[in-house]
Amino acid sequence: MPSIAGAVGGRLFWVHRGVTWCRPRRCLLPLQLPLFSSLAAAAGGGGAPPHLPVVIVGAGPVGLVLSFLLTKFGIKCAVLDKNVEFTRHPRAHFINNRTMEIFRKLDGLAGDIENSQPPVDLWRKFVYCTSLSGSILGSVDHMKQEDFDKVISPISVAHFSQHKLVDLLLKKLEGIGFQTYLPDEIGSSTQDLVLENKILMGHECSSIQLTDDGILVGASFNNAGRMQERKIHCGLLLGADGARSTVRELAGINMKGQKDLQKLVSVHFLSRDLGKYLSRERPGMLFFIFNPDAVGVLVAHDLEHGEFVLQIPFYPPQQMFEDFSTKVCEEIIVKLVGWEPTDVQVLDIKPWAMHAEVAEKYIGCNNRIILVGDAAHRFPPAGGFGMNTGVQDAHNLAWKLCLLQNGVASTSIIQTYESERQPVAHFNTELSVENFKAAMSIPATLGLDPTVANSVHQVINSSLGSIIPRNLQKTLLEGLFSIGRAQLSDYVLNEKNPLGSSRLARLKSILDEGKSLQLQFPAEDLGFRYELGALDAEDCAEATCEAERQKHSKRSREYVPSAKVGSRLPHMLMRALSTSNEVCSSTTTCLIHIFLANILHV
Ligand SMILES: Cc1cc2nc3c(=O)[nH]c(=O)nc-3n(C[C@H](O)[C@H](O)[C@H](O)COP(=O)(O)OP(=O)(O)OC[C@H]3O[C@@H](n4cnc5c(N)ncnc54)[C@H](O)[C@@H]3O)c2cc1C
Repeated sequence: MPSIAGAVGGRLFWVHRGVTWCRPRRCLLPLQLPLFSSLAAAAGGGGAPPHLPVVIVGAGPVGLVLSFLLTKFGIKCAVLDKNVEFTRHPRAHFINNRTMEIFRKLDGLAGDIENSQPPVDLWRKFVYCTSLSGSILGSVDHMKQEDFDKVISPISVAHFSQHKLVDLLLKKLEGIGFQTYLPDEIGSSTQDLVLENKILMGHECSSIQLTDDGILVGASFNNAGRMQERKIHCGLLLGADGARSTVRELAGINMKGQKDLQKLVSVHFLSRDLGKYLSRERPGMLFFIFNPDAVGVLVAHDLEHGEFVLQIPFYPPQQMFEDFSTKVCEEIIVKLVGWEPTDVQVLDIKPWAMHAEVAEKYIGCNNRIILVGDAAHRFPPAGGFGMNTGVQDAHNLAWKLCLLQNGVASTSIIQTYESERQPVAHFNTELSVENFKAAMSIPATLGLDPTVANSVHQVINSSLGSIIPRNLQKTLLEGLFSIGRAQLSDYVLNEKNPLGSSRLARLKSILDEGKSLQLQFPAEDLGFRYELGALDAEDCAEATCEAERQKHSKRSREYVPSAKVGSRLPHMLMRALSTSNEVCSSTTTCLIHIFLANILHV
């Protein structure tokens, strides 16, 4: 749709795709949404709950990035998290190009990550082996020279654990005035409490109520052993509360997609001995280990400090989570390592399930509730898209709310957050499922097909299988699994055995042809394009055709730079003529600043 421009009351405005943009004036902001209308209202007197423009539920990486960006853009906010402390159990560790580009704008966060992450030679490979000290079945190096030359992005991808990223984000937030509080540090009264710039730990969002000019959020907290509820009034409630989002549930928004693709047990452990051994002998980020005694995927979060997470497939209800005691997990670690590291320290054991789902809506309750991150989408972690997509959601939403607060855009800009980001989530869900299947193709090639294991498990769980007593079901399942794992013995899996040799040849061709799980997805990471959204695309029909073509053509890993509307501007180094210094900036970083500076005069 072409843009419509005009002037009302001396005020310039133009319309792009249903979003009304206007040049701001210092006084009245007629197009400003009532969402922010009561922003100026200070903490309500007469016992009324305090009012904040924005409350973010969830102090995970996405909630923290969002709070940082909003604060930088001048939007006051507070963050609530139900946990009293930040989890140390590592999940995400791969940070893609686009997220690192966003992190460059967070007071140098990207640089801090680069300086703190392990050296790239320790994590650039995925290794496939029979044990960490046994035969290497294959390995794939995922870094190319162009990654180091920074051809497509001013910054490389990174390998940095989520809990350490959260620590860095908290430091950045402290730097702009945020402080973290426990319930007993702020007491039970909310009256006169200044909530802005606060992260309230131990506060679980448990209720919401739509009011005339906002949302009344109820946050339960434990006050000296007694559960109490704190009420906070806000213009916008942003749900960054993860995959099992309460905000999403309270807003009545459903998820759509596939549930329970796989259940796993995640074992977080330390072993400097193992870290030293792998750094010296076979450094890598992911180790896919297959042997007759055990199978698992080891994520080397930090080889230098010996920090690992082991992922073990898990089949409830025949296998109980309680079966995975520390001792059992240590035994599995030894089976997968192939020797006994003396310093294994299991820190934490957690079950988790893999889903592939996207929220039906990102925005609810009259534009008052917006979902971001895992609250809006949950993917299999294959390819590392979860947190990356969430951080990019936060970035997309933050600059739009900035324009809204400054009266530059109308309320309809909020809808463009959904129309831009939801298709990306659908695309990344599909891609992550494909990646998960690519990862599963390796055990399948070795004769240990996880789809067969899942089918057997389903049959046992069906009404037919349920007539078998539970302990017999368990014996049956484990018997079948050990028969499957026998395919991985040296006797079968060797070049002299015709079956083993053909399986090894097939494995080699999968790895050589790049059909196994990949680490980098530049085409998707940098090449996504918003076909509908905040910016006007004259060539909308063309964009739709192109997207359709891409969907149906064989997916290419190659990133093709595009300056079409809705694409990320390709990276080029620029030097401002007005400045005397020689410092160059990337187009990916400075153009949004120029854009915001020009229209907001900031
Ligand atoms: C094994 C594994 C590996 C992964 N690897 C990668 C990777 O390499 N790269 C990648 O990009 N992604 C990866 N992911 C995905 C990534 O971990 C998630 O996408 C990411 O944690 C989402 O961040 P978030 O802030 O949206 O949610 P979360 O990290 O889940 O944070 C949500 C926060 O909300 C809080 N909360 C929940 N409910 C409430 C409530 N009612 N009230 C108040 N607070 C609440 C929680 O306590 C939590 O702190 C991986 C995931 C797994 C499981």
